Amino acid sequence: MRVFTASIATETNTFSPLRTDFTDFADSFYAPPGEHPDTPTLCSAVFPALRKRAARGEINLIEGTATWAEPGGLVNNATWVRLRDEVLHQLEAAMPLDAVVLGLHGAMIADGCVDCEGTLLELARKIVGPECVIGVSFDPHSHLSERRVANADVITVFKEFPHTDFVETGEACVNLTLKAARREITPRISVFDVRMIDVLPTSIDPMRSFVDRLKQMEQDGEALSISVIHGFMAGDSPDLGAKVIVVTDNQVAKGDRLAAELGHELFGFRGRATPPFLAPREALRRADAATACPVVLADVWDNPGGGVPGDSTILLRHAMEMGLKGVALGTIWDPMAVRLCFAAGVGAELDLRFGGKTSATGGDPIDARVTVTRLVRNAEQSFGESVVPLGDSAAIRIGDLDIVLNSVRSQAFSPDLFSNLGIDISAKRILIVKSTNHFYGAFAPVAGEILYAAVEGPYPNDPRRTDYTRVTRPLWPIVDNPFEEKPA
Ligand SMILES: [Zn+2]
Repeated sequence: MRVFTASIATETNTFSPLRTDFTDFADSFYAPPGEHPDTPTLCSAVFPALRKRAARGEINLIEGTATWAEPGGLVNNATWVRLRDEVLHQLEAAMPLDAVVLGLHGAMIADGCVDCEGTLLELARKIVGPECVIGVSFDPHSHLSERRVANADVITVFKEFPHTDFVETGEACVNLTLKAARREITPRISVFDVRMIDVLPTSIDPMRSFVDRLKQMEQDGEALSISVIHGFMAGDSPDLGAKVIVVTDNQVAKGDRLAAELGHELFGFRGRATPPFLAPREALRRADAATACPVVLADVWDNPGGGVPGDSTILLRHAMEMGLKGVALGTIWDPMAVRLCFAAGVGAELDLRFGGKTSATGGDPIDARVTVTRLVRNAEQSFGESVVPLGDSAAIRIGDLDIVLNSVRSQAFSPDLFSNLGIDISAKRILIVKSTNHFYGAFAPVAGEILYAAVEGPYPNDPRRTDYTRVTRPLWPIVDNPFEEKPA
């Protein structure tokens, strides 16, 4: 059995001041055929899963390119066309094929292409024909178009947010796709449009119990796969919003019914799935008053994982003005400041301007006398089994504040982002991290308490105030009851 795999992944915040080009893919992760590492990346977990099958002699695996860019702004057209054609030419060269497995993110929008993944799947289908099985895995923060559903046989999606189950999701995609290619199952995809835009962390209820139930239903054989597209509110896509996907073994009516039932239940979670998001000063006051340390305080909207630059200084400036002690912050993206720190050297004191450089809404740069405490070339942090690059990074100290400056954008995934830069978090009272919820998995075990701060910035965090130009379906919270209103 001949199987082709490839992975093109990024998440596009169309409202971001950033733009994304090939350099962003090369900086984050770019593996030509055969050069994918043994460890998975978030969206390329299908590679190691397929290699295991190839090693067992089950399949003849033909690897294409795998690449990922840290979420950012609109992808430039030449970069999209280059990556699209690279993978499609590899696919053509690999023919004839029994199956194709693609590890995609699902929220990539390019200048000139609103539905990159739908386009890729449609063009791939044209090459391989109707008999070849196409399986795809998506991140739930994506836009599920009809084009994607029409051209894929199997869709699996990370159920967890934080996405701690990306390896299982890749395995499940491979498992179902190969079973279908062997004609052991006939997968059919049912979708229900939940018509809402919300943030749906699965670390707490109601989503925690909901996801546990979906997994149980899969185990009980109710369906081959059940998953939820959460949607990505910073992407101006006609397919924006939450959707429920049920893949059955040729039981479309049952799949449709199940997707609708689960979708209506999910709609009932609107507005109550997240923990309280506190105002910046209140969040810092509560963190400072806590007795169980360190308190982990998430700067939820200045999350590079959501496509913003990650150089907002607003929360840091509040902490400095309040005179808080024992604070560490990771990270602020500022390659220019990192360059200056490297030039100054470890132990140097210098007047440094850092942060607040890429948007009008992320606060002003901080000007301070800083001490450079650690410099690391090509620094990294871990995220489950994967390794996430931070680029050249500098730890700086201002009084009793420790700050990690990085030069490859990344959200905070793991406490080793601090320890790798020589910062002992057990001695800290407050850890400020830029992440919406991915930090949760690795930080929760070391946190005395976890708080969430909502800081206004470049991220479009309230759909009622965001100028979407492509959304035509009624969606909560833009309208109160999208199921009562007719589409415009
Ligand atoms: Zn995601």
